[in-house]
Amino acid sequence: MMGQASIDDHLTDYLPATHPLSPRQAFQCFPPLTASFLAYQPSWIWDQDTASLPVPLAELRRQTRSFAERVLAPRALEADRHPHDPAMEAAVLKEAAEAGMLYNHLPQPIGSGAMSLVDYPLQWAATVKVEELCAACGGWGLFLSAHALGLMPLLVAGDKKILKRFVIPANRRTQEGEPYLFAFAITEPGAGSDVEEGYGASICKPNTVARRAEGGWILNGRKLFISGGDIANAVTAFAALDGEDLQSWTCFLVENQMPGFHRIRNELKMGQRASGATELEFRDVFVPDDHVIGGLRNGWALNRASLNCSRQPVAAIALGIARMAMDAAIDFACRFRMGGRPLLDYQEIQIRVADMIGQTSAMRSMIWQHASRQVVTQANASMCKVHCSDAAVGVCQMAMELLGNHGVLHQNHVEKQFRDARLTQIYEGTNQINRLAIIEDFQETFLSWQNGYPGRRERT
Ligand SMILES: Cc1cc2nc3c(=O)[nH]c(=O)nc-3n(C[C@H](O)[C@H](O)[C@H](O)COP(=O)(O)OP(=O)(O)OC[C@H]3O[C@@H](n4cnc5c(N)ncnc54)[C@H](O)[C@@H]3O)c2cc1C
Repeated sequence: MMGQASIDDHLTDYLPATHPLSPRQAFQCFPPLTASFLAYQPSWIWDQDTASLPVPLAELRRQTRSFAERVLAPRALEADRHPHDPAMEAAVLKEAAEAGMLYNHLPQPIGSGAMSLVDYPLQWAATVKVEELCAACGGWGLFLSAHALGLMPLLVAGDKKILKRFVIPANRRTQEGEPYLFAFAITEPGAGSDVEEGYGASICKPNTVARRAEGGWILNGRKLFISGGDIANAVTAFAALDGEDLQSWTCFLVENQMPGFHRIRNELKMGQRASGATELEFRDVFVPDDHVIGGLRNGWALNRASLNCSRQPVAAIALGIARMAMDAAIDFACRFRMGGRPLLDYQEIQIRVADMIGQTSAMRSMIWQHASRQVVTQANASMCKVHCSDAAVGVCQMAMELLGNHGVLHQNHVEKQFRDARLTQIYEGTNQINRLAIIEDFQETFLSWQNGYPGRRERT
């Protein structure tokens, strides 16, 4: 039963932190050795988690949060209502370039991040950064981070010449105030999942095709739903060689001023609206030989490896959006009064808030655990993507419920976060395709267990 206690220093049915039976007071009895790992001052999860990060990643997290709260959050609702306003996009890009936000997940001299980032896996820095961007706005977060996916084949190719020729100059131009962005283009009319899993690819008929020409290749075809395709200076576009299937897939760096490269339109989509999902057309685009990334016929490997490196950041997009929904719900529960008490004073509400805190914390633990490993595996990347995008939709759903009819109002952000989160279940491979990727990664292991799962054998 709930009493009628004041909530000045405690919630109903909780002891104040000053009470002798409160852990804060009771733990003071411990000797210094015990207190060193058990006693603590109250602090919010964000501060606790930041303190647990290595110094350069903690600094990246702080910098990104400060940028996102200053630049992205105030523009979140406006860009959702009226996406793709050129003036607003230019302002955000300018601020992002000035703050080093476009290349700071990469250590100098490749990017603008701290040199000490080189000691940590790229995905870890990317996930830390992306969560903060998307905790301010999922749309602007994708607007700024789709570029990291576009860059990925240039990094994954593992060729110093490519870094020197394309990546370092792009970073330099950006630091000089002229943002240079990349986008990643694999999806074609009739080939979404097919270009994200092997069996579909083996029977897929390619739409974008490269024909040999003197000194290079002529590209023809279309790509759909390309995040940031509307603002990118260059696109890592994947095409099959003329008359061949997807085994010939090759990554071409197409620059936006190349004749025959056209941006057809942006989709009007349900969420993350600040980011364009663009249809691109290649009409006899001449791409010189030195713009082939990672070698002829290596595009499939480059694609799969890039997605492996990018699915943990997608999980972090979902986490950022979920965290924002949770924050909005807690803020509402603390301020909104019902029956003379804040909503948070009701146990039903507390249970939902506790679930949201637990869910988002579990998402982050999973992402950081996998992203901090030196080797990225397909299964780990897909597990993060599937689990976190599903969990994010669940957290947004809880936030919607908690706000009641206030949740459907655009000004309260939560309905936007709900729409934003839903997209993370679809892009970079639908969650169904990512589940298949988990199984594919364990295929040899499962086949070796045909005579019995080792754990079971040991028990019997
Ligand atoms: C907002 C947004 C941003 C995007 N950004 C990019 C981008 O930057 N670059 C890019 O190249 N693409 C991008 N995409 C494309 C995206 O990756 C694809 O849309 C996505 O992979 C799904 O492909 P599809 O829509 O063609 O689905 P389809 O392949 O047509 O699948 C339809 C349904 O069938 C299911 N399905 C398909 N095959 C199987 C199977 N074998 N087993 C079980 N179920 C199956 C799918 O899960 C899905 O539910 C983006 C999409 C969106 C919505």
